[in-house]
Amino acid sequence: MPAEFFTYVHGVLHAERVSLEEIAESYGTPCYVYSRAALERRFNAFHQALFGIDHLVCYSVKANSNLAVLDVLARLGSGFDIVSAGELQRVLAAGGKASRTVFSGVGKTAPEIAQALEAGVYCFNVESAAELETIDRVSRAVGKRAPISFRVNPDVDARTHPYIATGLNENKFGVPIEEAPALYRQAAGMEHVEVHGVDCHIGSQQTSLEPFADALDRVLGLVDALEKIGIPIRHLNVGGGLGIRYKDETPPAPAEYIAAIRKRLEERRLKLIVEPGRAVAGNAGALLTRVIYLKSNGEKRFAVTDAAMNDLIRPALYGAWQEVRAVSVIGESAGKRYDIVGPVCESSDFLAKDRILDIEPGSLLAILSAGAYGFVMSSNYNTRPRAAEVMVDGERAHLVRRREQVKDLFALESRMPADG
Ligand SMILES: *Cc1c(COP(=O)(O)O)cnc(C)c1O
Repeated sequence: MPAEFFTYVHGVLHAERVSLEEIAESYGTPCYVYSRAALERRFNAFHQALFGIDHLVCYSVKANSNLAVLDVLARLGSGFDIVSAGELQRVLAAGGKASRTVFSGVGKTAPEIAQALEAGVYCFNVESAAELETIDRVSRAVGKRAPISFRVNPDVDARTHPYIATGLNENKFGVPIEEAPALYRQAAGMEHVEVHGVDCHIGSQQTSLEPFADALDRVLGLVDALEKIGIPIRHLNVGGGLGIRYKDETPPAPAEYIAAIRKRLEERRLKLIVEPGRAVAGNAGALLTRVIYLKSNGEKRFAVTDAAMNDLIRPALYGAWQEVRAVSVIGESAGKRYDIVGPVCESSDFLAKDRILDIEPGSLLAILSAGAYGFVMSSNYNTRPRAAEVMVDGERAHLVRRREQVKDLFALESRMPADG
């Protein structure tokens, strides 16, 4: 199984030492379940591999931004990579430090930049010349100097799903690496901007080291070129993107990934920033759902569950494969082949296809590797309240987001005026 902290004990799937049957009983379904130990293990794998290097592990908040997840990581000294002022507020509310937070994203607005400056973020990862101008202007108004790095696009093919590849020149992200020296020169001449680093992020769910190594070689070439023209670089941000095992992928371990980077840094005295999201949270979570009906249409058998694409959109959006396990082993039968589908009115509403499962109506299923890009991408489509979230810590379970109620869903709406 891809997720080491989700294991069977006496025929029942547990998160750490808590039975998923008990969690379903206490908190209902659908429900996201996270393992604190899994989050800590994965964060520490990065942190420890960076021993001896001046570094900052900035967990990418967008992968899973629940306050409890951020809190667990902040207590280990994690920094954070944010893409909005909303994520900054989450980091601060969870006990994270702005001084360990980097701000990425192609569309930072002036008010967002002002908020981040006031809070004192570690660095802005700038993605265009226009954004640089805005940062300079806003910093002047706020009376501060903004620490910046440019997110450069090394034009390497990350060979991942096109929706999550970001390192090619055709993507909207970053600035082309060839244009970077001119932009750095411009930034170096600005009064309210301070050049700190170089940044890149080539895409998500990378399962080999090659694209990282290619990108790093190009980025280090830029660092050297900048030093030659009198623009010293203090930190190198290599982004996130390290993949995880969903099925049978064999991504490098964080230690191997860091070792490959360490080898290339050689004598350079650069602070290293990494921004893992999926690699920290992905296998630290599962989506727990109950089978409502079993049905068959001709040849096909369906298990209709109370979770749907609005709860977990990766299968519908990317055709992603996630492991599905029956929470309780019910008998000796090998099971039957099912598509696992939700109640949403879309044919793309599936969570998994062609899975052999021994289940009956009422059975609980766990969809593994759902800790990253799971709850955060959920919606209220079909007026479906979003799932509860639970953090397991050893033998204890904590409700870290209560299930939404339907009245929450239209609380911000109003009817037409009575005289209208
Ligand atoms: C999404 C993102 C990450 C995290 O990516 P993962 O694949 O989850 O590790 C890191 N940095 C930036 C700029 C991102 O947009």
